[in-house]
Amino acid sequence: MYVEVMIDKALRLLESGRVERLEGDSYNVIGNHGTYNVVARDGKVMCTCPGFQSRRRCSHSSAVTILRSRRRQRS
Ligand SMILES: [Zn+2]
Repeated sequence: MYVEVMIDKALRLLESGRVERLEGDSYNVIGNHGTYNVVARDGKVMCTCPGFQSRRRCSHSSAVTILRSRRRQRS
């Protein structure tokens, strides 16, 4: 998957409100194929989806990364 496509998907997840913050640095992301758990820790973002397991990146973890960077800019 191209990075541009992944970012585009990530933005769409955010815009449709499918990224839900749980406790602390844990998030639920409702993807097209299921709900995944994304955890941000030590500057790294990890996702439970199969794509992340094989490629170490995915639209869900990207969505959380974007969300967190937006929050930093606001505060
Ligand atoms: Zn994922």
